[in-house]
Amino acid sequence: MNYYSNGEFTIDEVERANGYPLKKTGTNQYQGPCGYCRAEGGDTKGDNLHFNPTKGFFCGACVDNEHGKRLAQEIVDSQKVKKEIYQKVNNAKYDKNNFKNYNADLLKNKDRLELVKENIGITNETIKECSIGYDKENDVYMLPMTALDGTITGYEIRVPENNKGKFKFLTKTKGYADAPEKCLSKINNPKNPKNALICAGYKDGYAAYDYLKKFNLQDSYQILTNSNGEGNTAKALKPHIEYLSKFEKIIICMDNDIPGKKAAQKIEQEIPLVFHTLNLGKLNGIRCYINDFTDLHKYIQEHGISENIVEDSIKLSPNSILKLYLRRTNIKLDMPITVDVKPEHKAIMEFFERGIYPYKGCYYYVKYDPNSDAGPGQLTFVKKSNFTLNVTKTVVLNTYSFEIIRNIN
Ligand SMILES: [Zn+2]
Repeated sequence: MNYYSNGEFTIDEVERANGYPLKKTGTNQYQGPCGYCRAEGGDTKGDNLHFNPTKGFFCGACVDNEHGKRLAQEIVDSQKVKKEIYQKVNNAKYDKNNFKNYNADLLKNKDRLELVKENIGITNETIKECSIGYDKENDVYMLPMTALDGTITGYEIRVPENNKGKFKFLTKTKGYADAPEKCLSKINNPKNPKNALICAGYKDGYAAYDYLKKFNLQDSYQILTNSNGEGNTAKALKPHIEYLSKFEKIIICMDNDIPGKKAAQKIEQEIPLVFHTLNLGKLNGIRCYINDFTDLHKYIQEHGISENIVEDSIKLSPNSILKLYLRRTNIKLDMPITVDVKPEHKAIMEFFERGIYPYKGCYYYVKYDPNSDAGPGQLTFVKKSNFTLNVTKTVVLNTYSFEIIRNIN
């Protein structure tokens, strides 16, 4: 294989420029779909592109490794642009006045304003209330990152357009991730919010705010996102468990793709709280593929849907409950174990559906009894298998299918 390289590349940069994630196939060796082949309708197997940080790129399906060379050049070009803009915007001040100025400049620039409105499906009012800004000198968008305590930790910077599309991520100002407790960022500032909605990023956070405003619910929800990326959301939530526990519902809304599903699972498993989820793959009444909250917001507008689909689709996350109460998993099959449910979880547990759940590689029958003889609500679980099958949960939850599967074993 004739690799091509003209610089130094990190796997993050490569995946972002290529548009597809790569798999690690060996020491310093990655492989996955070639973005250029895919754009031409090829590479259905998704293994044309080879990447090695020291050797560079190789696409096995084109003449003279043209795709490998193009990708390398594209990353080098964007590194250059990034560096130039970075040097300029890094001097951007983070105080409230600067927010206001950037925001005023965006509202004055018709062309740049329209682009954001169209891209996220939001109104001027939302742009104003979320302080979305524009730096006219560098022609970049400035999205403020505000920690829970109100401190401004920096800006996420987006360009109006690049080869990947409109309103695309460019960089973030330095130092925003230095303090782990300041990574969790708030989009709005309601006085007494009932619920927390955790979004995958700033853009989705703005779309969520605009959505809730249409139902006059923007003050019932504290919209949150991690300034350090969707994949690290669990990490950003960790220092704020007490703060989060005060909400009636904490709703996870990550992207409807593999990285998004992994991020959601990490939150459900690692943070010791009961969560709700807004699964964008299982929305009431929508059959079309929706990848993120922005997609959903725009879809709802385009189809003139007036019902509150979002609130109708919020579901309790069984995994986040099982994590709290299935402490003893080294138990015999068919031996019921009963545990008391903490008073603070009782209201939520009313919605827990009895049934078979996969958990840590085994199936359990789980049920909640709110009126047990002992007084407090109790959760009973019975281990039903020492394996799980790689089938969708709807099939597994069907007791009939489950019995058949057991008989075969
Ligand atoms: Zn290719």
